[in-house]
Amino acid sequence: MPEHPKTRTSSDSSTPRQDLGEALWRLSDLVRADERSRSFRAKAYRRAVWSLDDLAPDLSDPSEMALSVPGIGPGVLRLIQEFRESGDLELLKRLEHLYPTESARIRRLPRMTPAILRALKGELGVDTSAELISAIEAGGVEALRGVGPATAERWAATLQLAPSTASISSFQAYVLADALGKHLIRHLGGTVHTAGAVRRGEEWVETVDLVSGIDEVAAGHEFLEGTAVAQFVGDGPTGEIVLQTHEAAAAKVHLVPPSELGGKLLEVTGPDKHAGPLLAGIDAEGLTESEIYERNGRHWVPPAARALDPEIAEKVVRNGQIKGDLHLHTDLSPDGRMSLYEIAAEATERGYEYILISDHTIGLRFGGLNSPGLERQRLLIEETRARFPDLLILQGAELNIDRDGSLDVDDEALGRLDLAIAGVHSNFDLDRFEQTARVLKALSHPAVRVLAHPTGRRIGNRPAIDLDIDAVIAAAVENHVALEVNGHRDRLDLSAEHAALAVAGGALLAANSDAHRIGEMGNVANSVATMQRAGIAASSVVNAMSVGAFREWAGVIG
Ligand SMILES: [Zn+2]
Ligand SMILES: [Zn+2]
Repeated sequence: MPEHPKTRTSSDSSTPRQDLGEALWRLSDLVRADERSRSFRAKAYRRAVWSLDDLAPDLSDPSEMALSVPGIGPGVLRLIQEFRESGDLELLKRLEHLYPTESARIRRLPRMTPAILRALKGELGVDTSAELISAIEAGGVEALRGVGPATAERWAATLQLAPSTASISSFQAYVLADALGKHLIRHLGGTVHTAGAVRRGEEWVETVDLVSGIDEVAAGHEFLEGTAVAQFVGDGPTGEIVLQTHEAAAAKVHLVPPSELGGKLLEVTGPDKHAGPLLAGIDAEGLTESEIYERNGRHWVPPAARALDPEIAEKVVRNGQIKGDLHLHTDLSPDGRMSLYEIAAEATERGYEYILISDHTIGLRFGGLNSPGLERQRLLIEETRARFPDLLILQGAELNIDRDGSLDVDDEALGRLDLAIAGVHSNFDLDRFEQTARVLKALSHPAVRVLAHPTGRRIGNRPAIDLDIDAVIAAAVENHVALEVNGHRDRLDLSAEHAALAVAGGALLAANSDAHRIGEMGNVANSVATMQRAGIAASSVVNAMSVGAFREWAGVIG
């Protein structure tokens, strides 16, 4: 994360195209800070940065040519022309004056508005998240209009979630790695693989590592020195190219000839104590990663488990062992974007034997199914069952745990469900005693068989609720409730640490996607990776059970 207001003094070696890339990225952040709702302009500026490498380094392309580049429209073209002539952007200068330097991070805080952001900068001189934390501690922030002591305290807690100012959350890192990888393939061809901390599924990432197998390594190097999507920093110790991305994190791109890909991928995925011995005694040339394990007489180890002792690492749960998904939202949920038919088709495609449909219920802030709604859902499920005879489709719901631990659907309607999952979606600020009591009460309800996203955390955006996790684990064991490891990249909840505690305490876990659209059903892999980091075997995962064993556990008859 940059220190104080970034001055775009172009270094000797940077081209106008690179300086514009940085300016547009920053402009995108500030336009987002300036607008209350989702900003199309901000999105367009961000997209344009990924298009700049199609333009000449001095931005001298004639306008017709620039306009033919996807991602560059008339609005962006005007900015390009302004930047070429003046070396700056008027709009950027104006917004930099109004908003904190680290607006990208500060803007995401709950209840933040453009007006408060301007007050933070204008009245308190806050530019960075560290300065905001100090201002909160000094009591200056809670006095601002629209902020109270509780909100200010929550902001400080949220900002302190990141282990360093150079780290980004696993979700941001994944998005960045994906975009950068596609950018490399588009310009250099070859293949690109994510490695390092992102591939190991870590929660916070300081460096996004990519390994690219290409024939022309020198040409790739030259391209990256001049790219507008990140700043070229230099060459790293093992020949990798070090970049400072326009976000807080660095990126390292390891360019190798295709024959060295397997060895490099293993090395960069690390950690060293795992990869070093595997690479020490052999010539890895031409071998894939799994062939390197084979040469060593070992089975391939999932990246997330590579920091563990070998005996534990080899026994962790694998994606292929997951037989069903117990947290799925159809379009009957207010935020659901997939039909039951689509879910069943995708589940079949994935080789699942069973699924639990768990739409939101009525107590959610933005609404959900009431008892008649659950009856309509049942009819739909019955219809769909007839079309997918090999898939067990169970009817459930994602119940809301009220402040006092009661559920938002009456017992009669709950009695008609096959089983339900329940989660906390409100009152995140209760003290430990009240919060724990609330969850324990919900766990004792016979309809509840899975506790969804137990701590409610959003990595980097929302602190965990204050729970006595040992008490929750004990209650889960006693009530035969599985604890979810939610697979959304910004949740990973339970965390690997808590998941390990839960298994040590005798609890079962559920690897769930919490998908709201088809593409998210793959989130189960993030859940599995979190369990792998914790060294957890399939025997502790309720949805790794065969359909027969699962039916028995769930008490579902017929
Ligand atoms: Zn939920
Ligand atoms: Zn959900």
